[in-house]
Amino acid sequence: MTARLLDGRVLAGHLRTELRDRVERLAATVGHGHPPVLAILGDGHHGAASMYAASLERAAKGVGVETEVIVDGDALVPAIERLNVEPRVAGIVVAQPFEDVAAGRRLVEHIDPEKDVDGATPTSAGRLARGEPAFVPATALAVIAIIEEYEVPVAGLRAVIVGRSAVVGRPVFSLLLARDATVVVCHTRTRDLAAETQRADLIVAAAGVPGLIRGEMVPPGAIVVDCGINATPDGIVGDVAFDEVAPLAKAITPVPGGIGPVTPMMVLRQLVEAAERRASAAA
Ligand code: NDP
Repeated sequence: MTARLLDGRVLAGHLRTELRDRVERLAATVGHGHPPVLAILGDGHHGAASMYAASLERAAKGVGVETEVIVDGDALVPAIERLNVEPRVAGIVVAQPFEDVAAGRRLVEHIDPEKDVDGATPTSAGRLARGEPAFVPATALAVIAIIEEYEVPVAGLRAVIVGRSAVVGRPVFSLLLARDATVVVCHTRTRDLAAETQRADLIVAAAGVPGLIRGEMVPPGAIVVDCGINATPDGIVGDVAFDEVAPLAKAITPVPGGIGPVTPMMVLRQLVEAAERRASAAA
């Protein structure tokens, strides 16, 4: 068996076209004659956070969304308070982590939950965990988007998630459960990771460990989604040993070119939906 490639670049291209049209329509019909604005905040100290902020800016530009970028360690709370009440601003993202990790986490609590387009606030996390409509962390949403783009039916699947972080593993758990998968979440204290993954129909790897998921851990015919973005001397690699797993799997995301390009589009999709809701409430 050779796996079907779940190509995130292709999906990101489709999303770009769709969102560009919706942004144009918003700018034309809202009546205030401007596209929605995405505010991106950070402390500018962490490479991964700066890369995320830059990828969001690029993606926003590609669909005609305006951005306001604020990089500052000190004045971010008043900035968020201003952005919360600024009508042009439809979404606010804080690019994590901060140098002071706890301060970065506390900062998101100031975001108006109605502008939380990267699903970072406790309000969004609570709504998602309760199975209510919610903004969702973009990477988790990208996992679902890529599965749905390739028409993988999730209901009834045994899904095994490797990783339980607030930005990937936990929200993926809620999203898969809401789609009627039977879900197991693994972490560093899982006694026998291979025994869990070997029983999976769908494996979602989000551990941040290069090549953690080896060929012998994957049953033939499984669907494998790799969220990992790990910098190594050989370049960016995922959490899945792609060359070992691809010959076994039914479908697999590559790294790079899988979840990565879809993630910023998920922020923008949530932003456009938020702007559309505001526009129809104002009409
Ligand atoms: P975290 O470090 O916050 O969480 C990693 C999780 O994986 C933890 O729950 C940890 O368990 C678990 N884990 C680590 N090692 C093992 C192991 N050997 N066996 C089983 N479980 C393990 O990482 P993130 O969730 O933020 O990110 C995960 C990966 O996804 C990274 O490569 C990151 O770069 C990537 N990422 C990609 C994004 C994208 O847009 N594509 C966005 C965000 C992240 P425990 O809880 O016990 O410590």
